[in-house]
Amino acid sequence: MNMPETLSALQPELDAADRSLVDGVIARQLRPLAKTITLIESQREDHKLRAQRVLEALLPHTGGAMRVGISGVPGVGKSTFIEALGLYLIEQGLRVAVLAVDPSSSVTGGSILGDKTRMELLSQNSAAFIRPSPSACSLGGVAEKTRESMLVCEAAGFDVIIIETVGVGQSETAVAGMADIFCLLQLPNAGDDLQAIKKGIMEIADLIVINKADIDPSAAMRAKSQIKTALHMLRPASPNWTVPVLTLSALKKDGVTEFWNTVMDYRKALTASGEFDAKRRHQALAWMWELIDSGLRSRFRSHPQVKNELPALAQAVEEGSTTPSIAALRLLGHL
Ligand code: GDP
Repeated sequence: MNMPETLSALQPELDAADRSLVDGVIARQLRPLAKTITLIESQREDHKLRAQRVLEALLPHTGGAMRVGISGVPGVGKSTFIEALGLYLIEQGLRVAVLAVDPSSSVTGGSILGDKTRMELLSQNSAAFIRPSPSACSLGGVAEKTRESMLVCEAAGFDVIIIETVGVGQSETAVAGMADIFCLLQLPNAGDDLQAIKKGIMEIADLIVINKADIDPSAAMRAKSQIKTALHMLRPASPNWTVPVLTLSALKKDGVTEFWNTVMDYRKALTASGEFDAKRRHQALAWMWELIDSGLRSRFRSHPQVKNELPALAQAVEEGSTTPSIAALRLLGHL
């Protein structure tokens, strides 16, 4: 069978510079790791092709990490928690990478998540690697780059990859789509849980953590039982896993061990049922389809005839002189 053109374009041997990136990543060196991620984040067309070749060479070395997604509203304590968890895992002899999906980084130009200054102790530790959110024009773009960076970190031998995202908007779904376990951090006040339900975030959580339990332990316990009741109304994602609700204090580092034990319980339960690997396979396929969808969309929008005809047809639809179906069919016909 003939290989499709684009695939054969990805096949050529790596040049010396890219080979040394691949070898450096596999040898667990941090500089080649950071340079590879920079290549992945580059918007240049030649860099994109190089990045895919490097990724392809790294792929056989990926898959070994536990991928943990962490979300919650600003101020809930994500960076405090990630620092406490990261340091705990390092004490257990593990290496930890922290990545972030922050769609607002493209608007602000900077990045508020995965910021080294927010995790001072962790960022100084040689067993940790912290990378802020890439800035890209769309959430899809940010998520795609983070997902690929996650694979590079895995090839570099990190045992745990924490992917942080902020609990506003669509980014949770993107992170849940690349993590093995998706953890939602909540504040111990009533109503917060209802917010999460409304936004559909609780449905995708595999584990819920009520942080800042030190401030008012009885409020935290109340929130816990409220959330448990709310969870009963949702259909469980797996018949082999009941979403636990933990109370924790990231500041006092209280409950971090229990958190990690729960993550390991999850892994055990879903590995035993075969769901753990099935989820990863499903995520990889879903990712491919997402790339196809966004690729088609951008190809469509950049097509010269589409660009030419779109303004007049859009106006005609608005004015009611043609139907949306006819306009869409006509434009799609150019592809
Ligand atoms: P993020 O925006 O979700 O990353 O939140 P931060 O980790 O920056 O935390 C926001 C504020 O809450 C900081 O002042 C933290 O010190 C504080 N904080 C975080 N976790 C706890 C906790 O468990 N207990 C208390 N009392 N404060 C906390």
